[in-house]
Amino acid sequence: MSPTTFPTDLSTSGAASARAALDAAFPDGLGSFVDGQVVTGGGETVRLTAAATGEGFADYADAGTEGADAVLASAVRGAEVWAATDPFERAAILREVSRTIGEHTEELALLESATTGKPVRDTRAEAAKVAEMFGYYAGWADKLLGHTIPVPGNWHTYTERVPWGVVVAVTPWNAPLFTGGWNSAAPLAAGNAVVVKPSEFTPASTLRLAQLAHRAGLPDGVFNVATGLGATVGAALTSDSRVGKVSFIGSVATGRRVAVAAAGAGIPTVLELGGKSANIVFADADLDRAADGAVSAVFSGAGQSCVAGSRLLVERSVHAEFIARVAERASRLRLGDPLDPTTEVGPIITRPQFGTVTSLIEAGLGGGARRVTGTQLPARFTDSALASGHWVPPTLLDGVTPANPLETTEVFGPVVGADAFDTEAEAIARANATNFGLAGAVWTQDVARAHHVARAVKSGTFWINAYKTIHVAVPFGGFGDSGHGRSSGPGVLDEYTQTKAVWTPTRAAGAPFPSLSY
Ligand code: NAD
Repeated sequence: MSPTTFPTDLSTSGAASARAALDAAFPDGLGSFVDGQVVTGGGETVRLTAAATGEGFADYADAGTEGADAVLASAVRGAEVWAATDPFERAAILREVSRTIGEHTEELALLESATTGKPVRDTRAEAAKVAEMFGYYAGWADKLLGHTIPVPGNWHTYTERVPWGVVVAVTPWNAPLFTGGWNSAAPLAAGNAVVVKPSEFTPASTLRLAQLAHRAGLPDGVFNVATGLGATVGAALTSDSRVGKVSFIGSVATGRRVAVAAAGAGIPTVLELGGKSANIVFADADLDRAADGAVSAVFSGAGQSCVAGSRLLVERSVHAEFIARVAERASRLRLGDPLDPTTEVGPIITRPQFGTVTSLIEAGLGGGARRVTGTQLPARFTDSALASGHWVPPTLLDGVTPANPLETTEVFGPVVGADAFDTEAEAIARANATNFGLAGAVWTQDVARAHHVARAVKSGTFWINAYKTIHVAVPFGGFGDSGHGRSSGPGVLDEYTQTKAVWTPTRAAGAPFPSLSY
């Protein structure tokens, strides 16, 4: 199967390139993916908008509750087939899925960039990571071991790992391809069927991913996609008792709503939610490297990253100098066309989020912060078609004190709030003064201090002299409001299987039957 070739006019982002990318990938239009087919039609019309120019480029129909029902019915059938498939065969198919995605990374990256406005240098890396995820979990599919467990008396007792059946994965708009892969490779390896519900703003790459996985050998119904609104499709999928487990990536408010709805139907959840991560810089750090790290931590992906290093805490003796270094680097970042490989910062992906980011900058300034960078966009963003796009310049606000709204509110945009600290204890207390606990980092050359801070900051991921490195082999997830459960690493196979214990006596006479009443 050769990759889809896009027309050359994709070199300028906007409605035309997004439309061209969609037409090439889905000649019959966008829809859900059920039993190996794209199914269009349904309820309310959803409009997709080009982030770079603000123009509408496609309409598709919300699958609605009826669509969700059909997707689930197919997934229930798919789950039976997939659970009965020999684990070695499952592993081989998932290796083929990984290989196929690897062959299509460029196509997936262009589709993602054209339809979301995310820079292609980011989406290329993310598409390659998705191939890596499937390769990694393919390796686990035939290694889901149980245990034999010694117990008193004459018993042979062992455990088996059993898939949940249908896993529903609800994903956000900031990294639809990446999160679609992230939350489907492991459950599939564990023998579940998966239904991905991508954000209504960014369904295209998830649909293409499912199509490629199906063509690589996944049976019908094993990897379905339900496209549409959270309130209709999302709500229906996450409260249906045919579902064994729900994984959710998105905001805290929606995550809680989903967890409550799922619990009402007896469905357990894995939640990966927001963050407000602290990036702590001590005076003894390699300041150039730390400044590069601080810029990448919050401005890559235009800050639309759950682990964004959106709070920059700098030891007072180097605070002014360090802020100047970060500001200088931030002002050199290349904003521009998402399909230009040299672009470092693209637009905000959705219109509502653009409004949120701009109003939070104002709230930060209103709270007493000083704007160091991000005062205005270059002229070409204000006197061309880009003027109606969702552009926010990389913005550094200094003097974001504990009382400032930016101290605890997730911005999810290219905005960092900085402040000075005097002691290690103060830095740790500031880092922990939010209910989030997703990630954080420390920059120092003092090994003991680095490990002490790493232990003291409450977060699911922590970097020492680094930022934003993640790998499918390493557990990822949050503490506190940032969620529960993990979505990578070997332990995830436990999230996506249930343990069954089997007992049998080893002597014909058997052991006495116990008189317990639990
Ligand atoms: P969101 O919560 O608005 O939406 C996420 C998904 O939930 C979408 O697919 C949406 O359609 C769906 N949804 C909405 N209402 C629903 C309902 N009632 N039932 C079921 N599904 C429903 O989040 P977003 O704005 O798309 O994404 C941004 C958020 O995601 C940020 O807070 C960010 O930090 C978080 N995020 C977290 C991680 C992580 O790994 N921790 C990764 C990426 C993004």
